[in-house]
Amino acid sequence: MNRKRVRLAIQKSGRLSYDSQNLLKSCGLKINLQKSSLIAFAENMPIDLMLVRDDDIPGLIMDGVVELGIIGSNVLEEKCLTRLCSKTSVPYTILQNLDFGICRLSLSVPLDMAYSNIECLKNARIATSYPNLLKRYFDKKGIPFKPFVLNGSVEVAYNSGLADAICDLVSTGATLEANGLREVETIYNSRACLISREEQYMFPEKKKIIQKLLNRIQGVIKARESKYIMLHIERNKLKKVTDLLKGAEQPTILELSGNSSKVALHVVSSETIFWETMEKLKLLGASSILVLPIEKMME
Ligand code: ATP
Ligand code: ZN
Repeated sequence: MNRKRVRLAIQKSGRLSYDSQNLLKSCGLKINLQKSSLIAFAENMPIDLMLVRDDDIPGLIMDGVVELGIIGSNVLEEKCLTRLCSKTSVPYTILQNLDFGICRLSLSVPLDMAYSNIECLKNARIATSYPNLLKRYFDKKGIPFKPFVLNGSVEVAYNSGLADAICDLVSTGATLEANGLREVETIYNSRACLISREEQYMFPEKKKIIQKLLNRIQGVIKARESKYIMLHIERNKLKKVTDLLKGAEQPTILELSGNSSKVALHVVSSETIFWETMEKLKLLGASSILVLPIEKMME
């Protein structure tokens, strides 16, 4: 194995692929992707990308084939539970939770079912792609049920009469309703994360590369969450304005030429600025309000 290049596994095609590649590009990686290829090399950093099915990523980390992976925590947790059942070890570290792939694993029942609590699903036949996460949930509540595994098209199991309820990933819930289903319990909240092999097995050169990439990823996420705000305001209203901009750092106050009663305020805010906040600022007398995205950030 090359001592100097880090291998990073990402989903080849699916819900995490665009965001994973986009994150790496935002970190300055120049990646030469060829459609059919399993491996892509970053031109300007010693990192090789492995493009695989998402289900394979936790195993590639745990078996020491790659050093890094970007994976939904739902798939990671399910894999851990599977391995624990077969008493195989599960060495890995979550280096960073990411800001995409946000979804939940939920139980859904037919719209016309009188559902009040989980007891209603006692001995129910439930289709899922995540049998271990589902079992953990039901076992905690001490309720027996009959699971069966379908990898994909879980909602079809209900439509074709194979299941009484389903346990599947949801982000908005719109697809469920279209299939005559209603979400009733959240089993697991998931998001994408960057995981790595345990440090002790890694060459020091690789640790350095990983730390550099991690710093950049953290910078990209921080920048994406932050906004640069500029506005003009009467000096005596400054306190009220800064109170409104929660999550903001110490502002910079600048003189305005030809106007001594007003100042310009510049501030970085880590909170989303909603229209409501803009309107309140306006009511306080602020003018020339600008909210700008931040491209890069390092603290
Ligand atoms: P593969 O071919 O790589 O096995 P897949 O069909 O298993 O792909 P996708 O549907 O692309 O997987 O989903 C990958 C991951 O994206 C999920 O495991 C989950 O972490 C995340 N995700 C985010 N939003 C959703 C959603 N609404 N539905 C399903 N998965 C979602
Ligand atoms: Zn998959």
